[in-house]
Amino acid sequence: MRQVAFFGDSKRKQSSITVFDTTLRDGEQTPGVSFTRDEKIAIAHQLSDIGVHVIEAGFPASSADEKAFVREIAAEGLESNICGLARARKADVEACAACGVDIIHVFIPTSVVQRVHTIQKTHEEVTAITRSIVRTARDHADQVMFSAMDATRTPLPELIEVYRAAADAGATILNVPDTVGVASPTSMKALISDISDAVSCPLDVHCHNDFGMAVANTISAVEGGATQVQVTVNGIGERAGNADIAQTVMALECIYGIRTGIDTERLVETSRMISRISGISVVPTQPIVGDNAFAHESGIHSQGVLAETSTFEPGIMTPEMVGHRRRLKLGKHVGRHAVARMLSDAHIVATDAELDEIVRKVKEISNRGRKVTENDLYEIAETTVGEAGIEKTVSINDITVITGNHVMATATVRAQVDGKETVRCSVGNGPVDAAMKAVVGIVPEELTLKEFSISAISGGSDAIGHVSIAVEDTKGRVYDAGASSDDIVLASTEAMINALNLIYRLKKNNN
Ligand code: MN
Repeated sequence: MRQVAFFGDSKRKQSSITVFDTTLRDGEQTPGVSFTRDEKIAIAHQLSDIGVHVIEAGFPASSADEKAFVREIAAEGLESNICGLARARKADVEACAACGVDIIHVFIPTSVVQRVHTIQKTHEEVTAITRSIVRTARDHADQVMFSAMDATRTPLPELIEVYRAAADAGATILNVPDTVGVASPTSMKALISDISDAVSCPLDVHCHNDFGMAVANTISAVEGGATQVQVTVNGIGERAGNADIAQTVMALECIYGIRTGIDTERLVETSRMISRISGISVVPTQPIVGDNAFAHESGIHSQGVLAETSTFEPGIMTPEMVGHRRRLKLGKHVGRHAVARMLSDAHIVATDAELDEIVRKVKEISNRGRKVTENDLYEIAETTVGEAGIEKTVSINDITVITGNHVMATATVRAQVDGKETVRCSVGNGPVDAAMKAVVGIVPEELTLKEFSISAISGGSDAIGHVSIAVEDTKGRVYDAGASSDDIVLASTEAMINALNLIYRLKKNNN
């Protein structure tokens, strides 16, 4: 593996592959995404804390605000090297330099289509501009990255000429961007290997996901000799986005045995942070960080995983390695083994016949198209084994919610917790939020609402709504619960009450 030589001792120590994160630059170019100043600073700290080598903080010449944000991030004293983006213009390079970044990243289009239609320059002109702008950038920074924009659609001889010009002028690393995501793993590996044979300079790769191959192409580039990979958290970015940090890092670490220096145990936490801030949610099936990445529903899989986790998981990657958790899910494919395990976790003793009956009822609910929560399972189980009517720890005496266009939504809850009456009043962002906050406030436990979804069971404005929630305790244990009502505020509060009772039920049984 080619070594990257440009990281000084004071900054992040280099491992075999360095990770360049562009969540704050390409990631922010995701349609509809815009980070505030505080969010940018928080994201930069998170990226630095998890071990990202280079953070592309932004494009200083694009606006005065952007320039101020990049300057602030560069002044935070983070472990990561901070990079600023610049077009091949002196003013852009100077804007980066004025921010005090460690690395100036200059780019110019090199493909025929982009040269002709965006900058109206010949290949010879582009080569000359490259030479002069890289020199200018080197006058302002010890580290200069040069990007030949649209490299993967540039004729190879021209591309190599431009990269040679950049390297001769002092570029410390050359980025090979697949700007419109048209590379394949095979073509990318060949391209990187051709460039590295022709030009003596470390190579970096920036892949887009237009055909869903951003991560595969990034890994192939590493196979071809690239020593730095560009990624974003959750793969956000222009159009279909960029290579995802979690997938890229875990594939390199687990499949290739390449150290990236990233604290992988914080990948899920980082994904959730960006999802919350960007408003772009992660699909449940998203590799590594999605809710279902380590969840098992099918009877065959659950039975296998209960016996030996690597039967139906990669094995070389575990949920603990990425800060996730393994979950057995209830549904129409659930098997006796998973249900038996969940009952034993709650110290519910069922005979074989009762277990069959419980599994049958779970499948029946699921076949009606409803999600079956853990709370549903325990209610079914207690009814089946004859322990129904067990007193609930938490129950609501009454709830009042006031909302309107001129008042802050306010909820007041009077509830019994372990026989004691508690009253709680909360304001919220709308009536559901106010009511949920008031209900969570009646118990001492610190709980976070992780998921909230509402679906209409019947049509029309008088529809029955079903609310599904997931709450997490401070130990990271997630509890699912749900409830239905023709009033969504009441369905939400009841779902939360069900979750609280589930937590107390499992707690009591385990004491
Ligand atoms: Mn891009």
